[in-house]
Amino acid sequence: MKYLGIDIGGMSVKCGVVEDGVILHKKAAPIRPREDAEVIVSDIAALVFDTLEECGTDRREIAGIGVGCPGSVDDDTGFVRYCCNVNFVNTPLAEMLAELTGIESVRVSNDANCAALGETLYGAGEGARNSVLITLGTGVGTGIVVNGRLLTGNRSAGAEGGHITIAMDGELCGCGKRGHYEAYASATALMKQTKAACEKHPNSGLAKYAAENGIDGKTVFICAKNGDKVAIETLNHYIEYVGCGLVTYANIFYPEVIIIGGGVSNAGDALIVPLEKYVTENVFGAQYNPKIKVVAATLKNDAGILGAAALCLDGR
Ligand SMILES: [Zn+2]
Repeated sequence: MKYLGIDIGGMSVKCGVVEDGVILHKKAAPIRPREDAEVIVSDIAALVFDTLEECGTDRREIAGIGVGCPGSVDDDTGFVRYCCNVNFVNTPLAEMLAELTGIESVRVSNDANCAALGETLYGAGEGARNSVLITLGTGVGTGIVVNGRLLTGNRSAGAEGGHITIAMDGELCGCGKRGHYEAYASATALMKQTKAACEKHPNSGLAKYAAENGIDGKTVFICAKNGDKVAIETLNHYIEYVGCGLVTYANIFYPEVIIIGGGVSNAGDALIVPLEKYVTENVFGAQYNPKIKVVAATLKNDAGILGAAALCLDGR
């Protein structure tokens, strides 16, 4: 069976023809995010036909389309309630896309959920039945797989793990509330923590490096590797913040594997190894229960396409 996986981003849309968890062909196109929803969806439909043509696949060979879309999506109805990056407000995306493409079965879910499904089935999760994917980027996205299925809550409004509270009355979060995980564990938060450390220790190697090269999500990792004490301390603190959220998820879901994605995950073992240690040391009942693996995402940009296509599989 062949499926189409569509991954909608703020700047572009990606579409792939997928068979047995393998992308046979993929294509991307720019998006016009501020146009009316009708225009955006017809652009996506055009991309579908272009992708099929390039792949030499007939529309009738496609058993279903899965779509990952940022924002608030009702998985059951395929409605996008709201999307901050693209002009969808109460948009019946599944229905519109089915009509324009003539492919009847269209499933839609949040993009972080799709990435979680993709990584769990075909990537770093190696087919685990229970997993949590945490994306450490501008914000913190989470997707949760329980017994092989996405856990999304009533009307798919749940699984917003970036907004669990880890510090009462703490740092201001992007959502307007205080003390949320995202305000401590995102790449944006890491850069803030790096900047604060530089200001507090202006003679440190970290501050000197930052003055020359600027600050991004890699700065603290580079300087810690070079042995700078302030960088090591800042990084250890950040790892505790990230670990704190992982332990919370682990205590509730006890997955086989926690997958770390997003830009910060490119740091590799410098992030992953201490995180796994933190989870092992702090999760409830670790001495009696199976070990929880912490791994970096492996599919990168393909996770969204593969996970979206997997929405069409039975029981997702
Ligand atoms: Zn928040």
